[in-house]
Amino acid sequence: MKKLERVYFLYFCFMSKLPSITNSIFSVMSQLANQHGAINLSQGFPNFPEDERLLQISERIIRDNIHQYTPMAGLRSLLEKIANQTLKQYDRKVNTANEMLITAGATQGVFTAINTFVNQGDEVLILDPSYDSYEPSVLVASGKPVRVSLNDDYTPNFNQIESAISTKTKMIVINNPHNPTGRIWTEQDFEALETILEKHPQILVLGDEVYEYITFSQPHISFNTRPKLVERTIIASSFGKSLHVTGWKVGYLIAPEHLMYEMKKVHQFLVFSVNSFSQHAISEYLDVVDFSEVSKMYQRKRDLFQNLIKDSRFELIPCDGTYFQVVNYNQISNKNDVDFAKELIVNHGVASIPISVFYNDNTDRHMLRFCFAKTDESLMAAAEKLNQI
Ligand code: GLN
Repeated sequence: MKKLERVYFLYFCFMSKLPSITNSIFSVMSQLANQHGAINLSQGFPNFPEDERLLQISERIIRDNIHQYTPMAGLRSLLEKIANQTLKQYDRKVNTANEMLITAGATQGVFTAINTFVNQGDEVLILDPSYDSYEPSVLVASGKPVRVSLNDDYTPNFNQIESAISTKTKMIVINNPHNPTGRIWTEQDFEALETILEKHPQILVLGDEVYEYITFSQPHISFNTRPKLVERTIIASSFGKSLHVTGWKVGYLIAPEHLMYEMKKVHQFLVFSVNSFSQHAISEYLDVVDFSEVSKMYQRKRDLFQNLIKDSRFELIPCDGTYFQVVNYNQISNKNDVDFAKELIVNHGVASIPISVFYNDNTDRHMLRFCFAKTDESLMAAAEKLNQI
C-alpha cells in the first residue's frame, strides 16, 4: 500500500466519533499566549492566589486517611453541604442520597447527562454562541446537535427555539450565566421557555449553571427555583468557578431521582468516584466560605477592567454575569476575529478568545472575549496595551 493510501486506510478504518474536532480554542490561545509572552485573558481561569484558608485546610488534611476511593456519588459530607447551600440559596430541598452527584468538573457532568439520555439520532438544542463541550458530548452519544442562534444582543430567540423543536428533540442545553457572552436570563426568559416546553413534555433540560455565583446586575435565576421544569432538569455546577480552583476539576449535578438514578450508571463507569483529596478539602472549606463574596469580588474586577478600557477603541457589550467581558473591535480592524485575536497576541501582547468559534457556522461579528478573573496588575497591564491600539 502506498503511503497516502495507507493514511486514508487508517483514517477510515479507525474513524473516531469526533473526526472533525480539533484542539480546543482555549488550549490553542493559551499556548499561543505563552509562546509570545502575552498577558493571558483568553482561557477562563483565575491567576490570583487561592484563598489562604483553602490552602491551610489542604496542608492540614494531606496526611489524613483520605486518599482512597470516596463513595461513588461523592463524599457524604460534601453532598450534605451542597444540599444545605442549595436550600439556603434557592429554597430547594435536595436529597443527598439520590438527587446529587459529584463529578470531575462540570465537563464530566455535562458529558454524563448527555450520554445517559441521548440516543442515536436524538436531537439536542444548543444555543449559539455555545460553550465548546456540548456538541462533542452529543456526537459521542451519536445524537444530533441542533444549533440555534441567540439574538444579536445575545438574548434567547424563543421563536427560533420553538421552530427548532421536532419529534426527535430530546434535550435543550441552557447555559446561564452565559459563557462566552456574560448575559444572564431574566424571569421573562424563563417564562417563555416554560410556555414552550409545556407543549413538549418529553424534552429534558440541561442547565449549565457553573457561573451561578457570578452575577452583577440582577440575581441569578436558577433552574432550582423553577417548579414547572425541575422534574425534567439536570443542573450542572462547578467548584472550579465558584471557589477559583479550576484545576481541581470538581463539580456536581443535581437532578430528580428518576434522572439521577440513570446518570449514576454512566458515571460509575466513566470515573466511578472523583478525586478524594479535593472533595475532602472543599467539604471543609464550605464551612467557612461565603458565596456572596464571589460576585462582589468579580464585580469589582469587571468594573475595573471596564473602566480601564472604556476610552479605548474596543466597544464593551453589557456583562451581567460570568467573568468574561465581550468587546467589539469594528473601529480597529476588518480582520476576522480568529486572525485579529492572533494579531492581538503576537503584535500587542494580549490574549483573548474569538467569539466565532462558539458558533456552528463560525458567525463572525468582530467580537472577542476577555477573561477578567485575573489580578488587578494583569488587568491594568493588559488595558494599557489595549488602550494603545
Ligand atoms: N471554561 C473555560 C473557558 O471558557 C475553559 C475550560 C477549558 O479550557 N476547557 O475559558
